[in-house]
Amino acid sequence: PSARGNHHSVPRIGIMGGTFDPIHNGHLVAASEVSWVYDLDEVIFVPTGRPVFKLDKSVTNAEDRYLMTVIATASNPKFTVSRVDIDRPGVTYTIDTLRDIRAARPDAELFFITGADAVAEIMRWKDAEEMLRLTRFVAVSRPGYSSDLRKLDVPTRCVDMLEIPALAISSTDVRRRSEQGEPVWYLVPDGVVQYISKHGLYR
Ligand code: ATP
Ligand code: MG
Repeated sequence: PSARGNHHSVPRIGIMGGTFDPIHNGHLVAASEVSWVYDLDEVIFVPTGRPVFKLDKSVTNAEDRYLMTVIATASNPKFTVSRVDIDRPGVTYTIDTLRDIRAARPDAELFFITGADAVAEIMRWKDAEEMLRLTRFVAVSRPGYSSDLRKLDVPTRCVDMLEIPALAISSTDVRRRSEQGEPVWYLVPDGVVQYISKHGLYR
């Protein structure tokens, strides 16, 4: 059964991909809003392995990012976390994520959730055509980025734009704050604040 109580003969599943270094409340609100508006049965969070857009940057090891994602999503019965990207060797490409989730859930209708900044990057890939056959894309608004899909140069008939409550939170800023000893309370879930300090991440 879904939040709206409708029964779907075909399960409706959201996929929320991200580096999640660390996961923050912007990610969680995005997933929650899309889940509500699209009447999803489940949202699968998929922490990336080596993210292709961030090859030039150092990224926290996958196991820490995975565990923070588990902690952040544990209390929501619809939220789950997948290891497909972190267990696949090499660089993470969204097309592989989609193929793996599709293979695991052949009966489902898939909705790939991204922020307004990430959707344009993903659509630039050569596999865009195949990705659009595997899933619908839902791009959520994000402070500081245009919500105008036409400006973003993405095929508007395959991508929806959804306005969500604005949370000007980024993992980059959470890492910077942690490094400087500034508070990250209420930007990330409590358990993630504690995980960061317990494991001395971002020092
Ligand atoms: P970084 O600053 O390290 O890039 P980030 O905050 O952008 O981190 P990512 O893990 O890169 O987080 O993002 C995962 C997905 O979540 C992307 O599709 C991104 O656009 C989306 N997203 C991240 N933060 C927000 C936010 N505050 N509002 C809406 N969408 C967001
Ligand atoms: Mg990002």
